[in-house]
Amino acid sequence: MKIYLDGQFVDKEDAKISVFDHGLLYGDGIFEGIRVYKNCVYRLDEHLERLEYSAKAILLTMPWSREELSELVCESCRVNGLSDGYIRLIVTRGAGSLGLSPNSCPKPSLIIIADKIALYPPECYTDGLSIVTVPTRRTGPAALNPGVKSLNYLNNIMAKIEAAQAGALEAIMLNDLGFVAECTGDNLFIVHKGVIFTPDASNGALRGITRQAVIDLATSQGLEVREVNLTRYEIWNADECFLTGTAAELIPVVGLDSRTIGNGSPGAVTKKLHAAFHEEVSTHGTML
Ligand code: PMP
Repeated sequence: MKIYLDGQFVDKEDAKISVFDHGLLYGDGIFEGIRVYKNCVYRLDEHLERLEYSAKAILLTMPWSREELSELVCESCRVNGLSDGYIRLIVTRGAGSLGLSPNSCPKPSLIIIADKIALYPPECYTDGLSIVTVPTRRTGPAALNPGVKSLNYLNNIMAKIEAAQAGALEAIMLNDLGFVAECTGDNLFIVHKGVIFTPDASNGALRGITRQAVIDLATSQGLEVREVNLTRYEIWNADECFLTGTAAELIPVVGLDSRTIGNGSPGAVTKKLHAAFHEEVSTHGTML
């Protein structure tokens, strides 16, 4: 495996960064998780746009143009012979002194890893997940804005640990007001009486690329999608529930907090959107 690191492709063993990198010292940096399907990178431009927005939000000046980053992502796949897989693009603040200030970091680092990923076992897609709500809250916009896809994932990691302690693979995180924000690494949707609902981004949901893809697909199929405030009550009483994410794609949820959702198996709308999503990713994208 060859990893792109600051201007060159290096072997996995040689892909190392400074212990003074503020990405390591403070989680000061940003990232994207991107998929390649059948030699086409899915919604690459949208991922790079979100990366630019994250960079702007944390006042990190990226010296690379969108075209350069786009080409490097594709080149990382080509170099590794990866036609189907997952690309992790990371921008760290770079190496500096031990103080918090990013002023000591003259040059951000760029890392691109092109690899395989399987987030959930196959049976989770056919049977659906049972998940839990965990105590750790999603950071609010007044703290670390949840729209920033930053290298600081401790909140989500705590929530993931709490999920595992409860025997679940994924967890719902609420915001400080008690509304549903999202899961630890996925966005959440429910279907109720034929209408699709998902937490509005201001509730602490990342503006997921897959989330938007599902909204676009559902809308194009004539389904109504509403971005709203949701509480756990709405999810317990939903007809269907599913999660979206670049790695997870679209995965059904059939239980939350010991309540069965709908009839306890993946619902018709979920299945229909999952099929439409598969069709979309295998026919759209930036060619390698
Ligand atoms: N929420 C969080 C916290 C995430 O880390 C991710 C990405 N893994 C998502 C939602 C899903 O976003 P996307 O569809 O862009 O992968």
